[in-house]
Amino acid sequence: MVSLSDRKIISNPVNFLMSLYDTYDYDVLVIGAGGAGLRAAIEAAAQGVTVGLVCKSLLGKAHTVMAEGGIAAALSNVDERDNWKVHFTDTMRGGQYVNNWRMAELHAKEAPDRVNELEKWGALFDRTKDGRILQRNFGGHKYPRLAHVGDRTGLEMIRTLQDHGIHQGIEVHMECTIITLLKNGERVAGAFGYEREKGRFILFRAKAIVLATGGIGRAYKITSNSWEYTGDGHSLAYHAGAELMDMEFLQFHPTGMVWPPSVRGILVTEGVRGEGGILLNKENKRFMFDEIPELYRNSTADSEEEGWKYTQGDRNARRPPELLTRDHVARCIVREIKEGRGSPHNGVFLDISWIKNRLPNAAEHIKKKLPSMYDQFKKLADIDITKEPMEVGPTTHYMMGGIRVDADTQMSTVSGLFAAGESAAGLHGANRLGGNSLSDLLVFGKRAGEYAAKFAKENAHGIINEKEVTDSASWALSFFEKEKGDNPFDVQFALQDMMQQLVGIVRNENEMLRAVEYLRLMQTRAGNLRVTGNREYNNGWHTAMDLKNLLTVSEAITMSALDRKESRGAHFREDYPDKDEKAGKFNLIIFKGQDDKMHLKREPLREMREDLKQIIEEMK
Ligand SMILES: Cc1cc2nc3c(=O)[nH]c(=O)nc-3n(C[C@H](O)[C@H](O)[C@H](O)COP(=O)(O)OP(=O)(O)OC[C@H]3O[C@@H](n4cnc5c(N)ncnc54)[C@H](O)[C@@H]3O)c2cc1C
Repeated sequence: MVSLSDRKIISNPVNFLMSLYDTYDYDVLVIGAGGAGLRAAIEAAAQGVTVGLVCKSLLGKAHTVMAEGGIAAALSNVDERDNWKVHFTDTMRGGQYVNNWRMAELHAKEAPDRVNELEKWGALFDRTKDGRILQRNFGGHKYPRLAHVGDRTGLEMIRTLQDHGIHQGIEVHMECTIITLLKNGERVAGAFGYEREKGRFILFRAKAIVLATGGIGRAYKITSNSWEYTGDGHSLAYHAGAELMDMEFLQFHPTGMVWPPSVRGILVTEGVRGEGGILLNKENKRFMFDEIPELYRNSTADSEEEGWKYTQGDRNARRPPELLTRDHVARCIVREIKEGRGSPHNGVFLDISWIKNRLPNAAEHIKKKLPSMYDQFKKLADIDITKEPMEVGPTTHYMMGGIRVDADTQMSTVSGLFAAGESAAGLHGANRLGGNSLSDLLVFGKRAGEYAAKFAKENAHGIINEKEVTDSASWALSFFEKEKGDNPFDVQFALQDMMQQLVGIVRNENEMLRAVEYLRLMQTRAGNLRVTGNREYNNGWHTAMDLKNLLTVSEAITMSALDRKESRGAHFREDYPDKDEKAGKFNLIIFKGQDDKMHLKREPLREMREDLKQIIEEMK
């Protein structure tokens, strides 16, 4: 291991740097070990190729572990009326029809097999009385569809995939962050990164690469996302020449904790509302009944009684308005707060304790169905949710946009570079339905692994361009060399604050133009960061490097949000509050131009197949 002071006396840094790191060769390299990455790695290994798996944290610690409510799959265990066609229709309608319909079709058809497979590999789901996988109600899903394990579904999913994966001969590189993708002409040839613990660089040569790096939530101040979500995959792909799509569609989950300040943003699962939880303003009014979108009027309960019956499994009842799509519920909450009817800490009340009026053993029932929520509020806010309401408000949650991929193969617009899970775009359109992410990870993780392995079998290794590697290493080390400069944490906080204020849940042109100006300033500040200390587990250094990704995705979000002059799904413009039929016919694509600058183009949606159109028509 060479220290920074050693580096300063090296006369030929290029040759020197090349000798500084370990190099690994794989047929397929998977970057990210959440649900999507693990499933991709398992599938690639099953195809008989060598697989390396890289993750920023310890194996099993990925963001997927935090998923609570469940995995959406039309297993029809609780309601036999459910099938892939209903799931497909719900997903398209939730996404406001700008989804990639082929992905929505594959997802709805293949999710049940992927969930059953998970069960065969050892996942212990909650059970129906006759021993099948139990499914629960969730926002935007017509029938109870979410396979779950209490409110700890992500943990079970990661545990199962991890247990299964480690027996497949996959080599895992934990606590390792990739900072650059390496190209050979038009195709991807490898990846370069550093080991977080020691600060050593590491080089991977790979015939195909799968990006499964998750989301971008850390670009915002209030978020449910873990520290790992700095948009790395989005940014790596963009800088390697891949296209990003739908970046304006960022989901703000309606219910995050709002108090105490240290826990602001932590998720309160939709499962609470699925189990009968209701939203109230400070006047104790159930405000969600005030505004039901036309698209959902026929499928929404028109009385509290009907809503309750729905949550208790009455097949003839319609869903309560608390279970409308997340974009709508989040905006209703913002309206209540803005109009002065919010709770003491700028949220509203979410009450599950009221079910004691309906169920004899309500407290036990809540603790059994929502064990994590019970613990979370007890430990973090000293609230007993079986006795009193929670205070909640919207939190930045999920990026619908991401790397543009082919629906069947998951290959991006760069040859040999694949993407799956939250880092990829298409399935969810303008708004994701709860539970559709975990099934997305399984369905498209598998596909990405399968097609990456196929690509690797058909192609030899690309040649690594040493200059690309040394440039990347020099850039990484440059932060230590400044005598003066900005503190990376200060710039990160400023960015998060700015994105929250100016490109948040309610957007307008003036504020977003100001955001564009701020982003320019921050890019300059990010080019002038100073890091002190050494390379061993240096969080300031890691943050300095992550900032490049946060700035890239923030620019992409802002540019796309400015261009979409309408309100659709999660993207709400107060200066264009309605949907525009013309704007509903294209996706927005972000790409890096020859001038090294970010560009945007509008891409017309592909005409939907006739049989799928008919399915949507029949389900109306
Ligand atoms: C609190 C919470 C609850 C949720 N509940 C549900 C739910 O009930 N149902 C549902 O469908 N969805 C849910 N979601 C959403 C869902 O959990 C995520 O969308 C999903 O887990 C993302 O999985 P992924 O595999 O794409 O990424 P992740 O699980 O985040 O994995 C990303 C991986 O990439 C690695 N990585 C990132 N950058 C780099 C880099 N530069 N180099 C190397 N490795 C890198 C990380 O270390 C990690 O291993 C929830 C989300 C949250 C925050």
